[in-house]
Amino acid sequence: MQYSCKLYLLRLKSNIILIIFLSIISSQIMSRYIEKILLPQQGVGMQSYLLVHRYLPTQSHTESKKKAYIQATLHADEVPGLLVSHHLIHLLDEAMKANRIRHEIVLIPYANPLGLSQFVLGSHIGRFSLATGVNFNRDWPDKSKEIVREVKDKLILGDVQKNVETIRYTMKDLIIKDTNITVEKQLKRILYGIACDADIVLDLHCDTGTYNNISDPSISTITNILFYRCCYAYVHP
Ligand SMILES: [Zn+2]
Repeated sequence: MQYSCKLYLLRLKSNIILIIFLSIISSQIMSRYIEKILLPQQGVGMQSYLLVHRYLPTQSHTESKKKAYIQATLHADEVPGLLVSHHLIHLLDEAMKANRIRHEIVLIPYANPLGLSQFVLGSHIGRFSLATGVNFNRDWPDKSKEIVREVKDKLILGDVQKNVETIRYTMKDLIIKDTNITVEKQLKRILYGIACDADIVLDLHCDTGTYNNISDPSISTITNILFYRCCYAYVHP
């Protein structure tokens, strides 16, 4: 997985500009990186970017490394996920200081800068792209057939971990090759590329009907309320 991540980042640099502008918080064993990823220009003088908060496990945790990916406001008018992210960053900072980050955690609070900037006569349009009419949470790149074609002769019977790495590497490779597409699809391509090698993916949305499925009484009331309002975080395998 580490090899594929490195290769992915190298390739990412050739397509988009990746700037790591905050590299360390307190010492060499506690790492929180914030990456700024520029999106393709929406028009002359108009450019958005993604901020990717990345928490890395300390060297003292030597177990097999997993990755959790969390994003909010893909539907840009569903803002409780932003507040959840705000509180989550503070909790993760505390966990990092206490050396409790055991696996990689990636958090993108503003997953859809395009939708966050769409206003028409004072009304926020965060669910659909005004440029294409496409729902920001639909029409994701579907690489399944290409992935099958690429990996079918590379999988090793009985070696699950190696096969997972092969499939994830292939997914990233195929996603990165999609370049001649709309800005909205470029956004999905970038998010997909960051998330596709994660073991857990949480995509925070909200709705008027909710169920209290992820609140935790051990954390603050306001965070509980926010989790409650941000009801259907759903998990992709
Ligand atoms: Zn939604």
